[in-house]
Amino acid sequence: MRMILLGPPGAGKGTQAQRLMDTYGIVQLSTGDMLRAAVAAGTEVGLRAKSVMEAGALVSDDIVVGIISDRVDEADCKNGFILDGFPRTLAQAEALEAMLTEKALRLDAVVEMQVDDGLLVDRITGRYTCANCGAGYHDKNLQPKVAGICDNCGRTEFNRRADDNAETVVSRLKAYHEQTAPLLPFYRDKGILKTVDGMADIDEVTRQMKALLGAG
Ligand code: AMP
Repeated sequence: MRMILLGPPGAGKGTQAQRLMDTYGIVQLSTGDMLRAAVAAGTEVGLRAKSVMEAGALVSDDIVVGIISDRVDEADCKNGFILDGFPRTLAQAEALEAMLTEKALRLDAVVEMQVDDGLLVDRITGRYTCANCGAGYHDKNLQPKVAGICDNCGRTEFNRRADDNAETVVSRLKAYHEQTAPLLPFYRDKGILKTVDGMADIDEVTRQMKALLGAG
């Protein structure tokens, strides 16, 4: 299974990708995670991406297309992958199509997660993760059972993303509507676009996705 999760920042793409990985035995490829790792490691790509990400704008197409093209060739992608946060522009979608054709691979589905903008600001500015295991939490919606202690691994250090602040969120939503939303008609025309209600609770969204994608 090769699929794209498409939706605005805060729609829950990362959360659902984690669940679909287990169901379908495929890997999550998040360009945001890869870019954050590059920034943390101080690589050339990281140095180029850092200020763009902090401003909530999109990193150049050639950087992200290059990252994905290399990653898709790795052995763990053999069974398939979930693209999370890529493609984000029509140019990236076209580059992806050319890349997959060249590798004799096919895209099976594009799943759109629909969420109203009003909900997203709250979701994004309140979210944080365990610094050790990456489990996701939220100030209002999903707190650890014991305050300050990760339910999953028991550690007490947590991280917030540098771009998860109220000012940057506005730019990120603008980038989504202006540059990424045009991918919806692009994939609808190809007959592979499916839509779920990203405002439903986490389990219900997973259920809708599995119903659309078929059993694992
Ligand atoms: P995300 O983790 O998907 O919310 O991405 C965080 C930030 O990384 C975005 O706001 C962009 O600055 C950058 N980024 C991630 N994926 C892409 C992409 N496909 N194209 C351009 N920029 C990206």
